[in-house]
Amino acid sequence: MKYKYILFDADDTLLNFKEDEKNAVSALFRDNGIEPTPLLIERYSAINLGLWKQFERGEISKNDIKSRRFTYLLEEMGIEGDGVEYDKKYRFYLSEGGVKFPEADTVCKYLKAKGYRLFIVTNGIENIQKKRFARAGLNSYFEEFFISEKLNTQKPAKEYFDKVFSSIGSFEKSEYLIIGDSLTSDIAGGINAGIDTCWCNFKCEENSSDYHPVYIIDNLSELTGIL
Ligand SMILES: [Mg+2]
Repeated sequence: MKYKYILFDADDTLLNFKEDEKNAVSALFRDNGIEPTPLLIERYSAINLGLWKQFERGEISKNDIKSRRFTYLLEEMGIEGDGVEYDKKYRFYLSEGGVKFPEADTVCKYLKAKGYRLFIVTNGIENIQKKRFARAGLNSYFEEFFISEKLNTQKPAKEYFDKVFSSIGSFEKSEYLIIGDSLTSDIAGGINAGIDTCWCNFKCEENSSDYHPVYIIDNLSELTGIL
């Protein structure tokens, strides 16, 4: 086997974040007596994504994301309400998620059976990620969750990956493969760290970034042909 350690991103790689996000935003607004329109969900998603990109670049903290995303959304949509309160409820509903991609189980089972050691590398919020993985029934495949807030650094920083390597106990870069959907955090991070990368391009998008993965897959099941 070429690799020993497989580092999986969580959201939009194994878990269907878009679906969980849509369900959580919908439940949240219904709770507040507001019908969740497609525009509302789309705007939330875009605002949130923009803030996470700023977080990846180290420009803002995770607390800034939590305090700003609904504040911005409510302001933009002209809805009265406390953005911080909205966020608290949203995080509750999100933690009730756990929609996974249909191939996730089969692929994890296959990799485990082949003797790969599997880990999660995520910039998400710790208790939310753990609950969602448990609800998705995927927890048992993974030896450890490397969550950015516990490591005090985040993908794509080299420091984040150094902490992962140190915790796993091997700095042999050729033994690692990172698999994820984000070019700016997973693929850039893997390249920064000097390990091989696999881009989950499930939406079959153009790669117009400067980051070029070693492998590109458009479905998780393609991993069985690589690993
Ligand atoms: Mg992701």
